[in-house]
Amino acid sequence: MAASGEAGRQWQEEVAAVVVVGSCMTDLVSLTPRLPKTGETIHGHKFFIGFGGKGANQCVQAARLGARTSMVCKEATGRTGESENQVGKDSFGNDYIENLKQNDISTEFAYQTEDAATGTASIIVNKEGQNIIVIVAGANLLLNTKDLREATDVIRRAKVMICQLEVTPATSLEALTMAHSSGVKTLFNPAPATADLDSRFYTLSDVFCCNESEAEILTGLAVSSPADAGTAALVLLERGCQVVIITLGAEGCVMLSKTEPVPKFIPTEKVKAVDTTGAGDSFVGALAFYLAYYPNLSLEEMLKRSNFIAAVSVQTAGTQSSYPHKKDLPLDLF
Ligand code: ATP
Repeated sequence: MAASGEAGRQWQEEVAAVVVVGSCMTDLVSLTPRLPKTGETIHGHKFFIGFGGKGANQCVQAARLGARTSMVCKEATGRTGESENQVGKDSFGNDYIENLKQNDISTEFAYQTEDAATGTASIIVNKEGQNIIVIVAGANLLLNTKDLREATDVIRRAKVMICQLEVTPATSLEALTMAHSSGVKTLFNPAPATADLDSRFYTLSDVFCCNESEAEILTGLAVSSPADAGTAALVLLERGCQVVIITLGAEGCVMLSKTEPVPKFIPTEKVKAVDTTGAGDSFVGALAFYLAYYPNLSLEEMLKRSNFIAAVSVQTAGTQSSYPHKKDLPLDLF
């Protein structure tokens, strides 16, 4: 069942330029003086609920820059169902859909299920900023190829489609196949990475964008400098992608393409980072926006601008809450 309602219908007559097929996770965050030991109960001093999941994060950043966006995802219904696996009352799904609408994202294909809980990340952070995280992907893993078939039209008419690996690999592969066969630019973010990634993920990626640790897992090479990233990017390019980008945190990113197979380092601004959580998703969302709306910009210029936007996001606490809106950014980015 897909979400309905006014905002859910808003783009029905209009084409979404950026479509994300991916995850929504509710972050349940407790701040504590220290991390608990096995079997121990401790008091925390603060709790908050945040909206996360790589797919939705990337979609929110693209939308805040002004992209028409649609999110293809799955959450719990919030109703008590009768299925064997039903999980009782879960208000996170409805809250998440409301969050997507608040960000002006089409929820026409934000499905809801009674068969699993909304994806959650239970996070404990101590005063040194160290954390323990348990992710239960839940309903995200129930997004399936039948759901994608219902969303065929929106996927095939997009300019850019983004996928990650927080839904099942089969669903991401099918989404990439649908987009690729219709000439829609595919932006694949292989996160969380696995060493044995299906080779089709490379050949179906117009743009393959990962961070240093994902590049290490995928290639088996150590990546701790722009030069290392260039070497790893060449290995990934040879697997069949058109463009490879490896992000390097505070340093910026490295790019490489089939047409220009010489690694290029694109440094970023020096800023005072407050919270880098979700910086990679801000970067990917911004890149999707430029690919969809400024296709004639050089890739290097798109990456400079995406670096800038992600650098803004690290200067404020939170994940989606730190993502800038178009109105707060310099005009020359648009
Ligand atoms: P996360 O997992 O926290 O979402 P990531 O590890 O996937 O992030 P990073 O490579 O850390 O991604 O960062 C992505 C982009 O964000 C970088 O390429 C850069 O543009 C920007 N960025 C990250 N950290 C900083 C920083 N400290 N200062 C400036 N820019 C940053």
